[in-house]
Amino acid sequence: RRSPISRRWVDLNEIVVQLSKMLRRMIGENITLELDLTPERCAVLADAGMMEQVLMNFAVNARDAIDGGGHLRIATAVKQSRPTQVGGASPTQVILSVSDNGCGIPKEVIDHIYEPFFTTKPVGQGTGLGLATVFSIVREHGGTLEVNSVEGEGTTFVVKLDRLNESD
Ligand code: ADP
Ligand code: MG
Repeated sequence: RRSPISRRWVDLNEIVVQLSKMLRRMIGENITLELDLTPERCAVLADAGMMEQVLMNFAVNARDAIDGGGHLRIATAVKQSRPTQVGGASPTQVILSVSDNGCGIPKEVIDHIYEPFFTTKPVGQGTGLGLATVFSIVREHGGTLEVNSVEGEGTTFVVKLDRLNESD
């Protein structure tokens, strides 16, 4: 099912900008796409197609979570992580945040969202594979994935990947 991963030097900001037209089309006119991209270099070693898949899966979920109008916000940031040992290296990370002001995720649901085929959507509307796919893509890239959600307020997914150094 899965195509082989081919990681190359890519800038996450460029991927977001290049995909923004398609994302706008996916979310429709009632949802505003807001981009808040850091001017810093967001170079990562990644499969661009898979990163696009991650963004599209988040966008479809945001669209489904928003009743009427709302916004989808995609932000990037660069942050120095803490060294894990004294004198150890502290890799710089690229942080991708995708937020919506949709319905939010209930407590009893949130522990299950990355399970393949888990969906709260009516039959025929959700496959339950969107976030399972996101999870495995992020894992294959050695990154981390977090979710923060408040019912009735919205949801933010945060993906962190190691940044490539200037010399790489
Ligand atoms: P699907 O979208 O097909 O249901 P996903 O794996 O993409 O499957 O998502 C699993 C479940 O996680 C959804 O059914 C929904 O309950 C919840 N979910 C995911 N993203 C959001 C979001 N942005 N806002 C609210 N709930 C969400
Ligand atoms: Mg989905």
